[in-house]
Amino acid sequence: MDFLHPADWAEALELKAERPEAVPIAGGTDVMVELNFDLHRPAALMDLNRIPELYSWSVEPDGRIRLGANVPYTRIIEELGDVLPGLAMAARTVGSPQIRNRGGVGGNLGAASPAGDTHPVLVATDAVIEAVSVRGARRIAAVDFYKGVKRNDLAADELISAVLLRPAAGPQQFSKIGTRNAMVIAVCSFALAFDSAARTVGTGIGSAAPTPRRAREAEAFLAEELPWDDPAELDPQLADYFGDLVSAAASPIDDVRGTAAYRRHALKVMGRRTLSWCWNDYRAAFAAA
Ligand SMILES: Cc1cc2nc3c(=O)[nH]c(=O)nc-3n(C[C@H](O)[C@H](O)[C@H](O)COP(=O)(O)OP(=O)(O)OC[C@H]3O[C@@H](n4cnc5c(N)ncnc54)[C@H](O)[C@@H]3O)c2cc1C
Repeated sequence: MDFLHPADWAEALELKAERPEAVPIAGGTDVMVELNFDLHRPAALMDLNRIPELYSWSVEPDGRIRLGANVPYTRIIEELGDVLPGLAMAARTVGSPQIRNRGGVGGNLGAASPAGDTHPVLVATDAVIEAVSVRGARRIAAVDFYKGVKRNDLAADELISAVLLRPAAGPQQFSKIGTRNAMVIAVCSFALAFDSAARTVGTGIGSAAPTPRRAREAEAFLAEELPWDDPAELDPQLADYFGDLVSAAASPIDDVRGTAAYRRHALKVMGRRTLSWCWNDYRAAFAAA
């Protein structure tokens, strides 16, 4: 197996064009598991660890956060928890401290497991993925990035340079069901993001369909029915119906981690819960304004 060790971004793109079969490795927390279990024996690995752009973040002229693809979860939590609270919540649930010190969003996107924890937040918040090759750069809406179980939209010569995310425009929540509190793959997960000024909501369902997806009907229902101008206590019937719409948007299967029926039930509960948390935060901010 060849080990490619580009010194900078331009060299990485050239190498990926020359050797499209080379598997990029960043934190290695997915790649090394596959190698150790002998699931894949790639002809070449390409180490991304010497490329500073992938390990830094900045603010774009339009205010969006440009998150380098391989900024580790620990830094997302510590440095961006205030502006990207939903992503930081999801990051906190990934693996263990060791995994969070190495792994990042680019690796989660590269692996494209339906159970990856960042995906529901990325789709709920309209994140955009930047894919680059020697041919140029293109931007892909997160919701269009996932193409099937462990398949994504990247061409063989492309690398992910960054993810673009708007700073939270309202309360955000992420909820994950697992068989224990840490070091666990999601049985299913759910993200909810309010835009308090636009009075819209975004949703993201994880591990309950071949790809992460939004619950569009549930979003439209909330945007229309929440009493934004007179935020009284949450109507339990409204929360219940929202949970039903979230659950109905999923296409779960029975597998080793849970049954389809359990996943549908759990999504309903997570939909209700995240809504009540976001709504309480919205009410508190409304009262303080
Ligand atoms: C013990 C353990 C626990 C885990 N727990 C969780 C969990 O709770 N939740 C969760 O979501 N995941 C979990 N994971 C999986 C893994 O940690 C995450 O998917 C992590 O985000 C991967 O990031 P990485 O940098 O380590 O990726 P790598 O392993 O380096 O790469 C993963 C994939 O992405 C590709 N890739 C990486 N960077 C780029 C790039 N810039 N451009 C193009 N392709 C790229 C690689 O080629 C590979 O296909 C766990 C893994 C382990 C070993």
